[in-house]
Order: sequence, then structure tokens, then C-alpha cells
Amino acid sequence: MTVAVVGAGLAGLSAAWELTQAGADVVVLDAGRQAGGMIVTERRDGFIVEGGPDGFLAAEPDIQELARAVGIGDRLVDQVARGSTLWTGQRLEPLAEGKAAELLGIQVNADVGGGFRTFAGGMAELVEALVAGLVPRLRTTQGVTAAAPATRGWRLSFNGSSSLDAEAVILAVPAWVAARLLAGLGVPAARSLDTVIYAPSITVSLAYRADQLPATLQGAGFVATPDAGGAVRACTYAWRKYRMRAPEGLALLRAFVGPVDGDPASIAHAELAAILGINGAPLWTRAFYWTRGLPRYPRGHAERVATVRERLAQLAPLAIAGAGFDGAGVSACVKSGRDAARVILDRIGGK
Ligand SMILES: Cc1cc2nc3c(=O)[nH]c(=O)nc-3n(C[C@H](O)[C@H](O)[C@H](O)COP(=O)(O)OP(=O)(O)OC[C@H]3O[C@@H](n4cnc5c(N)ncnc54)[C@H](O)[C@@H]3O)c2cc1C
Repeated sequence: MTVAVVGAGLAGLSAAWELTQAGADVVVLDAGRQAGGMIVTERRDGFIVEGGPDGFLAAEPDIQELARAVGIGDRLVDQVARGSTLWTGQRLEPLAEGKAAELLGIQVNADVGGGFRTFAGGMAELVEALVAGLVPRLRTTQGVTAAAPATRGWRLSFNGSSSLDAEAVILAVPAWVAARLLAGLGVPAARSLDTVIYAPSITVSLAYRADQLPATLQGAGFVATPDAGGAVRACTYAWRKYRMRAPEGLALLRAFVGPVDGDPASIAHAELAAILGINGAPLWTRAFYWTRGLPRYPRGHAERVATVRERLAQLAPLAIAGAGFDGAGVSACVKSGRDAARVILDRIGGK
């Protein structure tokens, strides 16, 4: 019998890794065309472009522990440029360490003093290492539409009429997907998980020649005050924050843009040109649309998740994991996935 992990984002891949280490027979199913979920790294013309997360706090242990365990500990790299500035709508001002995340509404559960870390080749390095260990147990374009009790464990249904039986299941999918799947199999409390808000956002990466940008840029980026008036909420000087993000003599910016009418890349360039003093047009731009991006939890979230988990403990082995439940950061997702795998391993007796 098999343990099915639904969702091949970082939480699902971490869960699958933990399960395979314990000798379990695992199959990982994802609705998308590729694994990684919100982790999307594109490498083009010597640039490393992050569509989703670009790093994690150096003080967060779980993702780094996993990286070492899968053999890519030597690929961990530290932030180079440090600190952020504040765009007031008029000028860029110094900003205290840790304030940037607060302004963006990102909950930080670790010490920000050590700065950020990432992987030399981008965040997808961890996904690639995890996927390499899973072949051929990873199946993409396999969206699970329903879960139902089976003689032993669970029956997962897919679009079309195919199905898969598994002794145990880990749902490492966004909260709204888990809410629907769990409500369908008789866990009404799970409907409340749908209250997790996934805010829409767009990240726009923009490449320039380094000499198009002023040499006086301070720190690793800026955050705009809520009343600054533009669409750009924040910007990372990606090629300064981490090494090797752009070829020699070229520069890479990444803007976080709220919902806009019109082309987000043109809007981002126009605003950044005015804020930073950029000369001329970008060499190229790339926009990533997150219709449901970073999750935010309403009050009472932890209690709701605990109630659902109590109910799940009374059913055949089934666990939930990921950013929708246990913290939005990538390191929290690794922990959540591995914890869910341990719960399942306990339930099925180690294998
Ligand atoms: C723009 C952006 C920037 C971010 N920046 C950072 C950062 O710098 N640092 C940080 O720590 N975090 C950051 N985050 C947050 C972090 O990337 C995510 O919270 C984390 O990657 C989520 O991982 P996950 O595995 O829980 O979920 P996901 O990555 O969402 O994976 C869920 C998977 O489930 C699949 N799925 C959905 N429905 C089904 C179904 N029915 N059947 C099968 N599969 C299904 C999806 O295709 C997806 O692959 C950022 C997020 C965004 C969007």
C-alpha cells in the first residue's frame, strides 16, 4: 500500500522525502505541470529570476537542515547587500531591520539580525534535489478532485474517471483546496479553513545594464509606505542582494506589484525609473501572476487547524501540511511537511 502526497510544493516534497527516508512507498500527485508550487526559479541568459520566494531567514533551521540532508548544504549562500529603505512617496529613507516584512504584512517568527539566505542557483535548487530523489514517484498534471474512504485507507479521484487507492494521504495543498476535499469526505470543520486569505500579487523582474541604475542605491531594496501612492509595494535589488543573479555589468530588479489595470511590467518600470532614477528602458521584463499568493491567517486560525487535526486523528491516516496551515515561509513549509509525514508514519507503524 502506498502513501499518497497530494501537492508537490515544498511542503509536499518535504513530506515525501521524510516518508521515503523511512522506507514508505510514496506517490506524489500535483495538479500543475511541474513540482515546486510557489517556488519558481527561471534561469535565462545568465540571470537567476525568482517568481516566488527568493530566500529565507538565516535563523530558520528547517529548510537548511533539509538542504544538508539532500546533499546541497554547500549551495546555501548568504545575503550580500543588507537592509532596506522606505519609499515615502517623496523620498527613500532608512528603515530599521525587520520593519520591511512588517510593512508587507509578512509574519516573521525568527531573528532577522542574521539576514537572509538562499541557494546559489535559486530556490528551485532544493525542489530539484527533492524531485531527483522521488523519480518516478512524482506525477504531475494529476489534480485530485475528491477523496473518499476505501477498504483500507483512501481512494483519491482525478479529473476523468481514474482513481488511486492509498493507505494514507497527506494533503499538502492550499487551504481552500484542503477545505473542499476534507469537507467532501465528512470533516465539516474543515470548511472553516477556507477563511485563510491568499492575497493576489504580481512579481515583476526587470533586467537593465548596471550603468542604467544610479551607483548610490542603498541596501537590498525598498518597501513603500501604504500611502506612497504607487502600484509598486516593494522592490528587491536582486543582483545586489545575492551574488550571481545577473551577468557581469547587468542588473536585476524585482518589484512586488499590487493588482493593476494595464501591463504590470510597464507600470513597474515607470514607477521604479522615477523612484530610483533609472535611465532608459529595461532589457527585458518577466511578470509572475499570483492570483492567490501569500496566505494570511485570520484570528483563530491555529485553533481551527487544531480542531481539524483532532478530527483527522479519528479517521484512516490522513494529514494536512503546508503554508495554508502552519506558517507561510518556506522553512515553516518544510517543517510542516516533515511533521505531517511523521504523524502518518506513526499511524501506519513506521512503514
Ligand atoms: C510572490 C511570493 C513570494 C514569496 N516570498 C517568500 C520568501 O521570500 N520567503 C519565504 O519563506 N516564503 C515566501 N513566499 C511563501 C512561500 O513561497 C510559500 O508559502 C510556500 O512555497 C508554499 O509551499 P506549499 O508547499 O505549502 O504550497 P504550494 O507551493 O502552494 O504548493 C501546493 C501544491 O499543491 C498543488 N495542488 C493544488 N491543488 C491540487 C489538487 N487538487 N491536486 C493536486 N495538487 C494540487 C499545486 O499545484 C501546488 O504545486 C512567497 C510566496 C509568493 C507567492
